[in-house]
Amino acid sequence: MICPKCGSELKKELYRGIEVDQCIKCKGMWLDLQELDQLENEAFDVEDLKGTLMLTSQLTTNKCPHCQTNLRQFEYRFTSLILEYCVNQHGYWLDAGEGERVLQLMKDREKNELRVAKAEDNWKQSITRLRSKSFASRVKDFFK
Ligand SMILES: [Zn+2]
Ligand SMILES: [Zn+2]
Repeated sequence: MICPKCGSELKKELYRGIEVDQCIKCKGMWLDLQELDQLENEAFDVEDLKGTLMLTSQLTTNKCPHCQTNLRQFEYRFTSLILEYCVNQHGYWLDAGEGERVLQLMKDREKNELRVAKAEDNWKQSITRLRSKSFASRVKDFFK
């Protein structure tokens, strides 16, 4: 297969245990659909946080290495990271270093969401504690 960016050869490489097609020259990576899922599995433990979010996409002049259709680019998960994908579902293109950024972004996001979830939990627990009978009766006892 041929690199959509620089026209060099794509070579099968292992990236974090996932087989990807990497350009020998510009080091960009082509991921099949399930390979991006695997990359997300690598970063996420929480099931709901997985799944690629795509709001808008734009046509590029780069061609899919499988079917030569022009790739479209989109913002990955509301971040500043731009990925390109084939509309015929052949996969995604990541420029050199974007794979690391994807993993990092996913990990940061998971951490943030867990922190928010935890803060909410603590808040709910303290509310419940305030509303609990024992607390109310203790207050009553106090003012007796
Ligand atoms: Zn290349
Ligand atoms: Zn394609």
